[in-house]
Amino acid sequence: TYIGLGSNLDGPHRQLQAAVRGLAEIPSSRVEQVSGIYRSRAVGPGDQPDYLNAVASLETALPEHRLLDHLQAIEQRQGRVRSVRWGPRTLDLDILLYGDQHLQDARLTIPHPRLMERNFVLVPLAEICDAKMLLPDGTELVTLLATCSRDHLTRTDLPLTLADASAQ
Ligand code: ATP
Ligand code: CA
Ligand code: CA
Repeated sequence: TYIGLGSNLDGPHRQLQAAVRGLAEIPSSRVEQVSGIYRSRAVGPGDQPDYLNAVASLETALPEHRLLDHLQAIEQRQGRVRSVRWGPRTLDLDILLYGDQHLQDARLTIPHPRLMERNFVLVPLAEICDAKMLLPDGTELVTLLATCSRDHLTRTDLPLTLADASAQ
């Protein structure tokens, strides 16, 4: 399972690091890998600060909706306030992929519907998964990466570490 992390408010680097610690505390789950941190330009409405984005892989025994409950609890804990759609936020945690599961209901769409068109998701994802991995429509991630724009996306040197030092 792959989780997308994003923040553009209130110390984005600190937010992402706290989020990884939060992910590590989800029951019946283990953070396997985290990507580097990327800086991307906000796509939402108005003039917003740049985002920091990363992707983490999570081994989890939780069913999809239970996992979303935990992700939303972490967002809340880190002070997320829901106002305008795609507005600035302290933390956004999206379920990008959950095995090869496809599901769609009122609360959850998996794979994440905008995954394939977002360079700030695809590029960090490629750091931590098998490049031969197939995306929802059957294309290989490498193929998509070859054509995806790198506009307004830069890899930073900011560290993002797994919370459990013994796991490294
Ligand atoms: P985007 O979906 O374009 O990335 P967003 O992350 O800003 O936008 P949010 O306001 O964080 O959107 O979430 C809106 C709702 O999306 C959530 O309340 C949640 O129920 C729903 N949702 C649907 N699919 C997913 C998913 N795969 N991961 C996380 N939330 C999802
Ligand atoms: Ca999102
Ligand atoms: Ca979200």
